[in-house]
Amino acid sequence: MARVLIVDDIEDNIRLLGYNLEDDGHDIESADNGHLGIEKARSFAPDIILLDLMMPIISGIDTLKLLKADEQLKDIPVIMISANDGDDSIVHALDLGAQDYVTKPFIYPVLAARLRSAVRLRDSQLALAAANSALSLLASQDPLTDTYNHRHFFNLAGGEFAKSRRYKRPLCAIMIDADHFKAINDNYGHAVGDQALIALAGTCQKLIRASDFVGRLGGEEFAICCPDTDLDGAHLLAERVRQAIADLTVENEDVQLNFTVSLGVTEARDEDKAFSSLLDRADKLLYHAKQSGRNRVTSSSKK
Ligand SMILES: [Mg+2]
Repeated sequence: MARVLIVDDIEDNIRLLGYNLEDDGHDIESADNGHLGIEKARSFAPDIILLDLMMPIISGIDTLKLLKADEQLKDIPVIMISANDGDDSIVHALDLGAQDYVTKPFIYPVLAARLRSAVRLRDSQLALAAANSALSLLASQDPLTDTYNHRHFFNLAGGEFAKSRRYKRPLCAIMIDADHFKAINDNYGHAVGDQALIALAGTCQKLIRASDFVGRLGGEEFAICCPDTDLDGAHLLAERVRQAIADLTVENEDVQLNFTVSLGVTEARDEDKAFSSLLDRADKLLYHAKQSGRNRVTSSSKK
């Protein structure tokens, strides 16, 4: 059953239509002019609006325009009620985004069926929109750690690389890799390993600034893209991440796990052709951090 808002200047029309709709189990609110109708649409949040075309003060068409121009109200389906179907304003109303129309005197079961069909259409559009946003989340996020996946991270980082070139702004990349991660999985099991990755990602997300973003590049390997950040700033962030992870304990049943990460940090250079050039360099620096004992940050030397 639906929440129905009736907007009509004739009290009797509202009453008659209201009785019929209530008999069918719908919730009804009404307004006798367009301005009040818009107020009611906001407070009542109807599933559908039945809107009279011919009204004094503000016409049905102008009311419809206001509804469709309102971010909060524009998706509520509207069925226009008009005096006759030769009315040009019906065409105008449909062009302005009205879902449907009925002409007076209407046959109630026909109006009720059109109302149900408009509500069904709205419901399936909402379901589709929800499914789409879930899909786009799936397409951009790593399901385990909620960081960006490899592809989405590279898309965004590519955009930041182009911007840093165009505006001559600094850009840094940090590569992060969990130390001895294979041993964590082997000794404690994959559930604990996954928890360590979640903690690692969560620590990065907590410490970055709003313009930075984190991606999981694969396995236990993550990267942070830091727009408008110079090498000193990125090194500081990397050091904070390293310290925070060294300080945290992953607890799972009777297991208490401490682990560390190694990080490589670099800044975009004139000779870099793409963001991947930075990341390759950060990866070499990360390798160097691993070679020199792990649980450390290696930054590229300044130019
Ligand atoms: Mg009227």
